[in-house]
Amino acid sequence: MNYCCDCGATVDRRWVPEDKRERFVCSSCGRVHYLNPRVLVTCLVEHRGRVLLCQRAQDPGKGRWSAPGGFVEYGETLEQAVVRETQEETGVAVEDSQLHLHVISSLHWISEIYVTFRASVSDSHIRVGPECLDARFFASEEIPWEQLAFVEFKDYLRLFFRELHCNQYGIHSTRLSEHGGHRRQYRIADITDIFVADPVTSRSATISKN
Ligand SMILES: [Zn+2]
Repeated sequence: MNYCCDCGATVDRRWVPEDKRERFVCSSCGRVHYLNPRVLVTCLVEHRGRVLLCQRAQDPGKGRWSAPGGFVEYGETLEQAVVRETQEETGVAVEDSQLHLHVISSLHWISEIYVTFRASVSDSHIRVGPECLDARFFASEEIPWEQLAFVEFKDYLRLFFRELHCNQYGIHSTRLSEHGGHRRQYRIADITDIFVADPVTSRSATISKN
């Protein structure tokens, strides 16, 4: 960050004692500019034991395979974002009600949070979007394991197929670094769709740690 988005003056990195960290502070109006992680969503869409992957048309990972997904836009819910990205990239329509939370990953060294959903669809019709070269459903033995766009995605896919095979799913929180990963699994004790008084609709899950 070089300039203040409020007044256009230059910003400096300054120590903010209350926060015990350096932040970008405007040299003129004094506004503190906070930097927060970016949130991405991705979806493991399953149809008759096969999972939907798309071949990326852009870097990073151009020509390689990953699950449909992308950045959450301002004003979007996680579910809206993942439904939109899946539709845009593969043409596969996922309903909000089909989505289940699967993995939350912190990639803290690049300040990104990935939220992965899983969904089962009955309609497997694909229409490849402009951000992709191809999109297909793969059985586990057909996955192009050596041509995946992101190394950590291999572990997510293995985990997904393992759970699909047993028909028992957890919610996982992972922490990834350049040196390896750490995964914590949560067991879902109960899941309910609760309509809270206007205007907030809430999907709440009672979660207990395994
Ligand atoms: Zn300013």
